[in-house]
Amino acid sequence: MSDKKLNILFAASEVAGFAKTGGLADVAAALPKALKARGHNVIVVMPRYYKIDPAKLTKLPAPLGVPMGIMGEFWAGVYTTKLPGSDLDIYFIDYEEYFGRSGLYEDERGAYSDNDNRFIFFSKAALQLCNYLHFTPDIIHANDWHTAAMPLLAQTRFVHDFRYAASVLTIHNLQHQGNFYKGVMDVLEVGWEHFNSHEFESHDRVNLLKGGISHADAITTVSHKYADEIQTHEFGFGLENHIQAHAYRLYGILNGVDYDEWSPAKDELIAKKYDFDSLEGKLECKRALQKHFGLEVRDDVALIGFVGRFAEQKGIGLIAGVIRGILDLNVQVVMLGTGEKWAENLFGALSHERKNFALHVGYSDALAHQIEAGSDMFLMPSLFEPCGLNQIYSLRYGTLPIVRATGGLDDTIENFDKENNSGNGFKFYDATLEALYYTVRWAIESYYDEKESFIAMQKRAMQQHFSWDDAASGYEAVYAKALERRRG
Ligand code: ADP
Repeated sequence: MSDKKLNILFAASEVAGFAKTGGLADVAAALPKALKARGHNVIVVMPRYYKIDPAKLTKLPAPLGVPMGIMGEFWAGVYTTKLPGSDLDIYFIDYEEYFGRSGLYEDERGAYSDNDNRFIFFSKAALQLCNYLHFTPDIIHANDWHTAAMPLLAQTRFVHDFRYAASVLTIHNLQHQGNFYKGVMDVLEVGWEHFNSHEFESHDRVNLLKGGISHADAITTVSHKYADEIQTHEFGFGLENHIQAHAYRLYGILNGVDYDEWSPAKDELIAKKYDFDSLEGKLECKRALQKHFGLEVRDDVALIGFVGRFAEQKGIGLIAGVIRGILDLNVQVVMLGTGEKWAENLFGALSHERKNFALHVGYSDALAHQIEAGSDMFLMPSLFEPCGLNQIYSLRYGTLPIVRATGGLDDTIENFDKENNSGNGFKFYDATLEALYYTVRWAIESYYDEKESFIAMQKRAMQQHFSWDDAASGYEAVYAKALERRRG
């Protein structure tokens, strides 16, 4: 527990339990809870997307006025409920025209063309919500490009309430920056003087994340390694110089895991609960998984799982390049994911061709848990990975990760070392087909030939703990620095 209790406004475009496309949602559900448990007064705010049923929420009496620059003032509804498993209040900004759609950011036709207005609207509404609730934040915690304008908005348009509020911007993925037509400066309403190459301007367009980096009192990202990487050309997505310039306020804090959700000992979604001292249960999960996917039900074959977006970031191109070679080995592979059509098609065709390969195209929380539980190894050869959660979940399920040494994967996975009885997975460095193929082969061979060491490693991995409380204490230290900068 910290000495000073802070009022924290936590704004995110997705929160697990309500709407999720990736790791941001997991963080937005877990970190506020961990902060609250440390004594802080936290409120969470997100958009009310179409699929969040208003019947399950409480509507607040009055609408919220949101100034949208040249477009005038818009009126948003506000709903609230408790974040599941906590007494923490989460608020939903309701505006049918912007959020009453099937997707969060896109549909089959691609990204929504008004994403700029949608999330500027949300950012402003999140700040207005504080006035509405008479909540005076010490900390405004923004996440990714969607809410990256909040640090400057809080200091300009909404000056009275936020004079003493420090802002923190967390970058969950630098690839997505919120690049839009510059005219949106008129909707943002912070003044065109902020449209310059040190703030919101990039290639004559508005870059919301870039502006957020300039104005946040502290910037964080979700692993130490990624904090270093984003300052380089390879991982900086064009913002490396900008980030270098602000690196004195950049901190890496590794995400934790919500072990209430991701623990084989408590998991209601898997065939049989188990723990490090009852690994027999894992075998039952393996059989159930093989059965579900129509694979041969065999205890004695190495089973590798993959769960994730079919995106270049996730090393999907590398997997596509080596998958046939891998399937020639004595192994079964199951994949769950959705994304790039070429990958869905390629893996789809392969699932008909090879009897040791199975695929589910789509998003399924239950299957994600079942793959974590039933697989022996978990494949995650990302080209870049800010933190990565699946490899950390895998550790708890005794499903040893096979990863590329980048970002959070490098920070969390240590190579198997039989001699020293150490390590928790299999890691390669170069993003090449050879490196991936030989590492998968090494993992499979270890499964068959080093059985005892493999099981010892599973048990070791299962007892590791990536705690949100530790992460929250890291954020507390960053909040203190941000406040010092803001208040002097
Ligand atoms: P990212 O945020 O880059 O997508 P992370 O590893 O940080 O990657 O988090 C991904 C989260 O989304 C994990 O909780 C993972 O289980 C989940 N996930 C990704 N794809 C799917 C899917 N197809 N079905 C179910 N869960 C998925």
